Amino acid sequence: MPFRQMGLSAPVIEGIQAMGYTEPTPIQLRAIPLILSGRDVIGSAQTGTGKTAAFALPILSKLDQPAPGPRVLVLEPTRELAAQVETAFRALSRFTQLSIGLVYGGVGYGQQNDSLRKGVDILIATPGRLLDHLQRGTARLNRVEYLVLDEADRMLDMGFLPDVRRIIERCPAQRHTSLFSATVPPDIAALIKWAMKNPEVVEIGARRSPAETVKHVIYPVVDEQKNDLLLALLQQVNFDSVIIFCRTRHRADRIGSLLKKNNHAVAILHSDRTQKEREQALKGFRDGLFEVLVATDIAARGLDIPDVSHVINYDVPQHPEDYVHRIGRTGRAQTEGDAFTLMAVADKSHVADIERYIGQKIERTKLEGFSYQQSVLFAADGSIRKDKPVLGALLRRGRTFRPRRR
Ligand code: AMP
Repeated sequence: MPFRQMGLSAPVIEGIQAMGYTEPTPIQLRAIPLILSGRDVIGSAQTGTGKTAAFALPILSKLDQPAPGPRVLVLEPTRELAAQVETAFRALSRFTQLSIGLVYGGVGYGQQNDSLRKGVDILIATPGRLLDHLQRGTARLNRVEYLVLDEADRMLDMGFLPDVRRIIERCPAQRHTSLFSATVPPDIAALIKWAMKNPEVVEIGARRSPAETVKHVIYPVVDEQKNDLLLALLQQVNFDSVIIFCRTRHRADRIGSLLKKNNHAVAILHSDRTQKEREQALKGFRDGLFEVLVATDIAARGLDIPDVSHVINYDVPQHPEDYVHRIGRTGRAQTEGDAFTLMAVADKSHVADIERYIGQKIERTKLEGFSYQQSVLFAADGSIRKDKPVLGALLRRGRTFRPRRR
C-alpha cells in the first residue's frame, strides 16, 4: 500500500515526498493505520526500520492545526536520540503549521523556557530535564493527547523508569500511548500494563536477529595485538565510514588517539564529553568530516548515522542485545554493511552468549597477511581453532540453557 492510501494528511504526504520515501517500511505499514485509528501500539522493531516515521507520520496527520499544547510528548533516553527525533519531526512536518520543542539536560534553561512559554504542539524530551521543567512550572502536560515512549528498554537500563512514571502521571488519562522497545523485560511489561490501554503489538522480524543486510565476522586475536589488527583492518578494508565501539570511555579516548596518530580523521563520542563536543562529533561524522567514529555503547542505540559502511567492535559487547544494536548501525534501511568483532581469549564466553542470543554462529576469519601471535585461539598449524558447539559448551559449564523466547 503506498503512503497516499494510508489516510495520512496532505501536508504530511508532501513531507514524505520531500524526504524521498517512496514506500512505507514494514513497521510503518502496520503501525500507521493502528495509530491513525486511535489504538495504543507496542512496537518492537529494530532501529533502522523506519520506526520514528512510523509514529511521527500518523501523529502529525492527527494534529492537523496548531492548538494550545503540547499535545504530543515523545520521551527519549538520550539527548542525541531526542535531537535526532526532533530533526525527523521537523523534516516530516515542514508543510504543516505545527511547532516542535526540544528539551534535554546538559544545556541552559533559557531557550527551552522561551520555547515552552511560546507553546509547542510537539514536545520531544529526555525524562530528567522534563521533570525539572514540570517541577519549576515551566512545562505542563495537561493537554497531551499522544504520548510516545521510545526506546523504553534503554530508558529502563539508564534508570529512568521512575522519572518516566512521574511524567506519565502528569499526562491526562485520556490519551493515546505508543511504546517502542527492542525487548520487553518485566519492568517494561509492568509499565505497559499501567500506562497503556489494550495495546496492539506490532513486531517486525525476529526481534533478536541482527539487520539482515549486515555481513558479520569475528577476528580472533590476542589482546596485545588488538591495536595492530585494528590498524591493519582499517588499511585493508575499503570503508567509507566506520564506527568503532569500545567498552569504556577511557578505551575510546585511547583508540581515538592511536588512530589520529595513524592519520585517520577521528571523532570520539562518549558520555564524558560535553554536549557541544558530542554534537560536533556526530555532525562531523554525518557530514563526512571524520571517517571514523569511536564510541561507547551510549552511542550505540538508535542514533541515526546514515551510510555507515562498517562497524568494528574493538571490544566484544558484554550484553548480547548490545551486539545487535551495535551492528544495527550498518545495514540501516536499505544500505549494506559489514560488522567486524575482535575477539580476545577472555571474550570467548561473551561471544558464545551472543551467538546463543541471535541463534546463529558468527563466522571466524583471519586477516590476510597479518602476522598473528599464536594463542589458544589458534591451532598448531595457525588455523582458527574450532569452538565447541555453543549449547554443549554452556551445558558443560553447568549453565542452564533457556530456549529463545520469541
Ligand atoms: P529509524 O528506524 O526511524 O531510525 O529510521 C532509519 C532511517 O530510515 C532514517 O534515515 C529514515 O529517514 C529512513 N526511513 C524511514 N522511513 C523510510 C521509508 N519509508 N523509506 C526510506 N527510508 C526511510
